[in-house]
Amino acid sequence: MTAGKKILLAHGGGGRLSGELINEIILPAFDNKTLSGLTDSAEIKLDSQNICFTTDSYVIKPLFFSGGDIGKLAVCGTLNDLAVCGAKPVAISMALIIEEGLEIEILQKILNSAAKTAKQQNVSIVCGDTKVVEAGGADKIFINTTGIGIKLSQAAMGFEKIKTGDAVIISGTIADHGMTIMSQREEIKFESSLKSDCAAVSELCIKLIETFGSDIKFMRDPTRGGLSATLNEIADKIDCSIEIYEEKIPIEPTVKAAAEMLGFDALEIANEGKFVAIVSADKAKQCLELCRKSPLGKNASLIGRIAEKNQPLVELITTIEGRRIVQMPYGRELPRIC
Ligand code: MG
Repeated sequence: MTAGKKILLAHGGGGRLSGELINEIILPAFDNKTLSGLTDSAEIKLDSQNICFTTDSYVIKPLFFSGGDIGKLAVCGTLNDLAVCGAKPVAISMALIIEEGLEIEILQKILNSAAKTAKQQNVSIVCGDTKVVEAGGADKIFINTTGIGIKLSQAAMGFEKIKTGDAVIISGTIADHGMTIMSQREEIKFESSLKSDCAAVSELCIKLIETFGSDIKFMRDPTRGGLSATLNEIADKIDCSIEIYEEKIPIEPTVKAAAEMLGFDALEIANEGKFVAIVSADKAKQCLELCRKSPLGKNASLIGRIAEKNQPLVELITTIEGRRIVQMPYGRELPRIC
């Protein structure tokens, strides 16, 4: 069935094609329950501690962008995958795949940025690896980071905890990262004030879990594939519909304008400093208040709820009270966005 088939760029887009590749080719190769959960971090029981363990590779183009660079992103992205699983970060590894010809000054800039971000987050980069490939064998530099963290005792999240009526919260404006990267790509570069939201949300996630415990049912960082992919993944796992309200979804006017100009659906655009939280309806207001006290959650918004319908759909209630089904993105929208 797979003979002659080749990997497409869209297989890395975080949408429908990525899902097919993971489910049909990658998961069967390793076949274990922890991996098959497809959570942002794997949870491993070690003696009395629950350890969360995650890895991510960064191939973003360009290496430097408004609001960040590949070094900062490689630290934040991995910390965020730990954070949304309710884990306090302990240490990070960093592996570099460098293309022959990269200026050492650029490498230093990237490493300094990664180090600064890690320091701010109180976590150390404790092991690593460096490989160099011939010119043309890679594109300047690719970075892989792995993170381990200790799961908070109050964290009790999982798809199975989500119930009808639960509230859907987003921690801030959507699509900032993806649209910024697009605006700075050589092919379509345009002047704008766009800035990536690249940031580590660990502190805020930890505070939410410590305060609200099992009322925080699930969290995920809506990176590749944006809010659409994250909500579709959730709807699919719980076999329930999710309703979201267009007027409640925070988006910067400049981001909205850029997305419209380039013909992108902002719901499908990557974020790098945001999380989606599914929380008990009766705690939603308090969760929102707590988020808004933090600079990283100041634009947090209650954007929807888990609906009664036993159908894995995401429905957008538009500003003119229409309804539109939010599809899982295909994946070809924005290659190499993170
Ligand atoms: Mg994630």
